Amino acid sequence: MNTTVARMGKSLSFDTLERIRQVSQFSENQWQELLDLSWWDYTLIRTGQRKLSEHSLIRISDQILYSPEQILFGEVDYHDLQIRADQKSSWALPEPYTYANYGRRRTTITTFEYIERYHGWKLRFDILKHLGLSESVLQDPFATISMRVISDTLTYLAKRRFQAKDFFAMGLYTYVGNATTILGDHYGQMASAREIIEHMWSDCLKFYEKNCRYRFLSLDEQGALLEVTSERDVADEMRVKHLGNEHVCHLKAGMMASAPLYLGQAQARVVEKCCAHKGAQACVFEITFQNHKH
Ligand SMILES: [Zn+2]
Repeated sequence: MNTTVARMGKSLSFDTLERIRQVSQFSENQWQELLDLSWWDYTLIRTGQRKLSEHSLIRISDQILYSPEQILFGEVDYHDLQIRADQKSSWALPEPYTYANYGRRRTTITTFEYIERYHGWKLRFDILKHLGLSESVLQDPFATISMRVISDTLTYLAKRRFQAKDFFAMGLYTYVGNATTILGDHYGQMASAREIIEHMWSDCLKFYEKNCRYRFLSLDEQGALLEVTSERDVADEMRVKHLGNEHVCHLKAGMMASAPLYLGQAQARVVEKCCAHKGAQACVFEITFQNHKH
């Protein structure tokens, strides 16, 4: 084993080391203690001028309860490590997120999956830290959550220069997150994109949320016009005029566009004709199916 570890030790990146440190909630000082290294030794490792010793690797292994091989071969469940650390530090849900829990976590979870997949673990980690949330919040798609979580997440990303197209892509990604679930199976058995859109924003809403009210102003084989308004009670409880924000609307547009994907068809075109967050009475989305045969 020792020789394997010694040989593989070359491939343990500083990014991996840093990820283990951060998700385990070690300060740099504590981490250097754990690794039995001086500040200067660790600086040399950071800059790639020195390799992590087997001695340090074994100390990490003992701490996080993964074998050196698992660490080297990238078989660590970092989300689980983070949840363990959150539990140890007696994490509690911040007060603003403790009420008005009328959403399910499904879309929040797929959004964070998207963020990690396309923008890396650090951004996912930074957002959770910024919002004061535990990784454990992103476990159960059926558990409830306040809409404020997704709103604040997207606001944070907008400050980091994420744009409408990025939020739209996150909405579209719900397809990837849902495709292999009971919900994806359900949509996959439907006869047309029209049928999926119709169910996605009516009876299937129970899989997503009870924050907003959705009303079809029109719906046919070409597409739909869908009006979205806040549930008054939920908005009052959250003390806002309209739930969500313009970024959440872009994400919802992406979700609407994803409907035909469940049937292997091209995504729908979606344009938000007017938005409650820009002074309109309600948000209205125009959905156009691209696969329609005239
Ligand atoms: Zn809107």
